[in-house]
Amino acid sequence: MLESYKDALNYAAMVTIWEPSGTILFANNNFKGTTGYEKEELLGMQIATIGRAVIPDAFYDNIRTIIHSGAIWRGEMKSLKKNGEFFWVDTTIIPLKDAEGAIYQVLAIMFDITDRKKLEETLHFMAYHDSLTLLPNRRLMMQEFTSLEQQAMEDQSWIALLYIDGDDFKSINDSFGHNTGDEFISSFGRALGESIGPADMAARIGGGDEFVIAAPGLTSEGAGMQIKSLVTRIHQKLEEGWWIDGHHFTPTASIGISFYPKDGSNVEELVKRADSALYESKKSGRNQVRFYRENPMRMQ
Ligand code: GH3
Ligand code: MG
Repeated sequence: MLESYKDALNYAAMVTIWEPSGTILFANNNFKGTTGYEKEELLGMQIATIGRAVIPDAFYDNIRTIIHSGAIWRGEMKSLKKNGEFFWVDTTIIPLKDAEGAIYQVLAIMFDITDRKKLEETLHFMAYHDSLTLLPNRRLMMQEFTSLEQQAMEDQSWIALLYIDGDDFKSINDSFGHNTGDEFISSFGRALGESIGPADMAARIGGGDEFVIAAPGLTSEGAGMQIKSLVTRIHQKLEEGWWIDGHHFTPTASIGISFYPKDGSNVEELVKRADSALYESKKSGRNQVRFYRENPMRMQ
């Protein structure tokens, strides 16, 4: 009876046994197969060596404390195969105790949940990114902006919020079809993504040709000038343009800019004001940059 349990477990799960010191004493075929280690390599190895690169010491310490107190630990772990690939396991770690209650071995039973975890990661990514450009979406932008604001409040810096809308993008669909239009939007997003600095964030907000860039770390005196270099990079990227199916595109875009904290104390207000500056920029002939003003003025 017990033998059949053992067979079933060996068939379904990865099983390892180690000494209380962490030295591996046994690993079944599933464990070897998934981790890519040979039996000779595993025996004598410290269990904590596996996945050391991705599992924080504190996580191991916490497990060790629980096990050594005599309790069972159950949880999900991201670990590393011998070849450096990730794998995820649903793990149950059981301290085996002798008649006096002393722990003489530790048994771990693991189920590979890598596929589910990858799916979860993909779903999480999709919930926070635009599927066409792979840029952050509105939700992520709004979320991230809150921490940018926090930082700006602490170090008394400014954040620029650029609202960008492609000029006359509908004509691309009309002239070249929807597939080219999709690729065009994707290239436009890439151009914006490549224009920004490492601390900046570009997002596609909504499903059209509207994008937002948040540029933190500006000074109250120099914000206007500091943002000009970002705008210049965007213009350069758009002037370089891109090729789709033998056609070279060099689009233009209209930009409206608002600043935190000058023009608003929260992201909704800043987006609204950058959008109203964008509206001015569209109204005055497109391919323009406007700062938010109570009474709109040109940038240059
Ligand atoms: P304007 O200069 O006033 O901004 O003119 P516009 O043609 O760019 O018009 P608007 O910004 O109002 O609308 C954006 C257009 O861009 C709508 C649609 O034709 C095209 N577009 C936006 N997103 C996509 C997309 O994901 N795929 C495709 N194929 N076209 C898109
Ligand atoms: Mg447009």
